[in-house]
Amino acid sequence: MIEKVDHIGIAVSNLDEALAVYRDTLGLTFCGTEVVAEQKVRVAKLKGGEDTIELLEPTGPDSPIAKFLAKRGPGIHHLCLAVDDIEQTLERFKAKGMRLIDESPRIGAGGCRIAFVHPQSTGGVLIELSEKNES
Ligand code: ZN
Repeated sequence: MIEKVDHIGIAVSNLDEALAVYRDTLGLTFCGTEVVAEQKVRVAKLKGGEDTIELLEPTGPDSPIAKFLAKRGPGIHHLCLAVDDIEQTLERFKAKGMRLIDESPRIGAGGCRIAFVHPQSTGGVLIELSEKNES
């Protein structure tokens, strides 16, 4: 089951410059930064009321975010949907013929279990599925 839109991920080339805009100018609440080694990104989490935005800065040239920036420039990178059972959701999407980037979940920011669905199957939007890791 899809529970809600969890966050929107925005690719940035410089996290400090992006924070000057999103935190200082727009006035979103800064919740901290975290390096997600597996995805080679530094993530800054910001809140606007109930809603979350993640700014994603590559930590190396082989980061998926570095590749995205080189190809498309900074901007909206993905939409994240919170799900209660990520395996079941992936099975369901697979059965419907959707193209999955991750066939099985991996660990994302905040220790969540995540998986990406290819934009080819979703009208051009990279979708992240995220299940909170309760343990
Ligand atoms: Zn995300």
